[in-house]
Amino acid sequence: MQSLIGLNLNELESLVQELGLEKFRAKQIYKWIYSKSCRDFDEMTDLSTKARDLLKEKSSIGSLKLVTREISSDGTEKFLFETSQGEKIESVLMYFENVNYSEDEGGNTPPGRYSACISSQVGCAVACPFCATGTLGFKRNLSASEIIEQVLFMQNLSEKRIANIVYMGQGEPLNNYDSVLKSIKRIREDVGIGVRHITVSTSGVIPKIEALATEDLQITLALSLHDSTDQGRDYLVPINSKWPVFEVIDSLKDYVRKTKRRVTIEYVMLDGVNDSLDKAKILGELIKDLHCNVNLIPYNSTDVDDPFKRSNSKRVEEFSKVLKQHCKGKTITVRKERGHDIKAACGQLANSVGSKT
Ligand code: SF4
Repeated sequence: MQSLIGLNLNELESLVQELGLEKFRAKQIYKWIYSKSCRDFDEMTDLSTKARDLLKEKSSIGSLKLVTREISSDGTEKFLFETSQGEKIESVLMYFENVNYSEDEGGNTPPGRYSACISSQVGCAVACPFCATGTLGFKRNLSASEIIEQVLFMQNLSEKRIANIVYMGQGEPLNNYDSVLKSIKRIREDVGIGVRHITVSTSGVIPKIEALATEDLQITLALSLHDSTDQGRDYLVPINSKWPVFEVIDSLKDYVRKTKRRVTIEYVMLDGVNDSLDKAKILGELIKDLHCNVNLIPYNSTDVDDPFKRSNSKRVEEFSKVLKQHCKGKTITVRKERGHDIKAACGQLANSVGSKT
């Protein structure tokens, strides 16, 4: 069955005409889907009953089913969705109130707005050992329609407008390049969220970073670096054995040159693994000529048997201080933790219902 989410106005016009409806009906449907996040043909009250019945018979508004919706004590919400093929994916909605998060979450979340963190794949092949999604293995790429639908579904259930999108949920977005790119364009043009409020986070897929630099998009690109040495990063972000640290930083420099956009470096702080002051110094030297912000991320444990522990706050402070000394002028922030109690925080998305202990 044809999902209408992901179709632009021209495509909707062709579809309604194929169904024998008047062309102008497409504009009405388009408005219901993208401006009102409508999920039910029966709510499209300016369409005739006959038109609604025909649409119900031949198409669907989307294909995801909501399985659970959990709300954290800090207001963060986690949504578990089921795809039409029975797989589970997760999305997270974070509310930023009276806080200037201009330096966090890719630098684009205005205060008092919702930011949606969305998934791009079912599982992930990169298999970072500290990430719950990485333990699931890779199942498949999500379609552009399934990616956009996560935003519209959450918007449908929320009162406040989603103003910011981060591709930081399950999956490596650049390993699903075409669908992610299509979804960005549709989110910009149809859902109406500006590209400057969209962040794509990658583990460092160099050929796709190069491709993205030529797309003339003004999105923010974030690199999940997590270690400043090849030896450490080969372990924490296994894709590093293919695209090592220096090469990926060079590809970011090219990206900045071509797009004139500052990038974000993400670094999860793991006790005794990547948080030595030597690594801070190496990181500072590595990125001193890169136009970037740095986001230090407190680690969120996924399991009681978890071999990783978060760095204590004193170490994070020291790491940040040494880093600052070696890459002057960069903004270095420590990401504020969100949704930890429902396992909606960074690295915790593993299609489970969060424990509220
Ligand atoms: S951190 Fe990102 S790239 Fe690594 S396994 Fe998790 S989802 Fe995949």
